[in-house]
Order: sequence, then structure tokens, then C-alpha cells
Amino acid sequence: MKIGGLQKLTLIDYPNILACTVFLSGCNFRCPWCYSSELVLPKLISHQPEIKENEFFDFLKTKKGLIDGVVVCGGEPTIHQELPLFCSKIKNAGYKIKLDTNGSSPEMLEKLFKLKLVDYVAMDIKAPKEKYTQAVGFEGTTGNYLVDKIEQSINILKNSNIDHEFRTTVVPGVHTKEDIVKIAHWIRPAKKYFLQKFRPEKTLDPAFEEKQTFDEEEMYQIKECVAPLFDAIYLR
Ligand code: SF4
Repeated sequence: MKIGGLQKLTLIDYPNILACTVFLSGCNFRCPWCYSSELVLPKLISHQPEIKENEFFDFLKTKKGLIDGVVVCGGEPTIHQELPLFCSKIKNAGYKIKLDTNGSSPEMLEKLFKLKLVDYVAMDIKAPKEKYTQAVGFEGTTGNYLVDKIEQSINILKNSNIDHEFRTTVVPGVHTKEDIVKIAHWIRPAKKYFLQKFRPEKTLDPAFEEKQTFDEEEMYQIKECVAPLFDAIYLR
């Protein structure tokens, strides 16, 4: 597995669990607002010091009893065919797994669920259907290919007994309030929906570093518009 980074302790990324976060290199999207270009762009990935898989598992051994979970994120973890094997090794080491995903591979999600390899999933919903492919810079497909995949992942998650959340980073110039309403109607009903405020720093497209962010009041108003559609909705 190509490991591009390791955060040794996180108190906030895995709900109610002390965890570490492992960052897998490579992504099939090119969201211009992405904060992790060093895990996305092949040129930057090649300059990133790699963490060997055995070093990561040696680290996990030293943390037994101190942390309980591993957040597997990217990049986009589900593009790696060896992800089930990687997750099974984490499970065998005695840890719970939270997967962060862009939802582009319902096939991989199904495989992971069938093998009982994940305990929590956070899935990004990047845009309303009609804007999706363009918003995430997904090239090489036509028609509804990507939206169909995202929709399959949404349904797999909602029909599973795996604890999960949907989340959207709200980016001025990409999303309007109406876009968030459309997303909310698309994914409803759902247990948990998080609206994340975009931070204009170190973005994949440098032009996004100049963007204004939505202020607290605007984020609150967006949240209030869609709150009735969910069991729980939060701002981050
Ligand atoms: S924000 Fe977009 S480009 Fe960045 S890692 Fe996530 S899916 Fe990939």
C-alpha cells in the first residue's frame, strides 16, 4: 500500500474513538478546493516521503491499548485494489476502522462491508448531481457514469448496518445555498449530515486560496434550510 502520511493521534476524526489517521496516496478526483494535493497529484506524490507498510504496522503495535481506531483516508482509499487486505491487517492488529471516501467505488464499499472490514464510513457528497462530474474534475467519462456510482454508494451505505455520515465541504463559487438544498434532497433520509466550512489554504487549484469563505451566519442559514431533512445535522 502506498502510504503518504500518518497522523499518530486524532481526537476528532473518528467519532468517540481515539485514533490515528493513515493517508493513502492517489485520488481519481481533482477537486480544486482539495487541501491534500501532495496525496493527489502524481508529480507531488513522487516527492512525498513514503511510509513503508511494515513501519505503519510496527507503529500500530506500539499503540495497542492507547488508541482504538484507525482512520483510513487519502487521497481516495477505494482506488487501491489491495485496500481489503490492508484493512484486514489493521483489523487483525485489533483496531476499529473508519473509512473516508469520495464514494466513487460502490464495488469496493460492498466488498469491504461483506468482509466486515470497516466500522464507520464518512462519505463526501461533493455537489448536486448536475454539477458533480465537473465540480470534482473527473475526466474520461460521459453521461451519468460518476453520478450513478455516487448514488450506488449512497444507497449501499444507507442500507447497511455500518455507522456512517455524509458530508459536504461548502465552497463559495462552487456551491450556492440552492445546491446544498439539492444535495440534501438527493441523500435524504439520512442519519447524519455534516456541512464543512471551506478553508482557503493550500488548495489543489491555487486560485481557491484567494476565495472568500462563507461566514458563520451564512453557514447557519444553509444548515437551517436543510435541517428538517435529517435526523442530525452539524456544522464543522
Ligand atoms: S478533496 Fe477531492 S481531490 Fe482531494 S482527496 Fe478528496 S476526493 Fe481527492
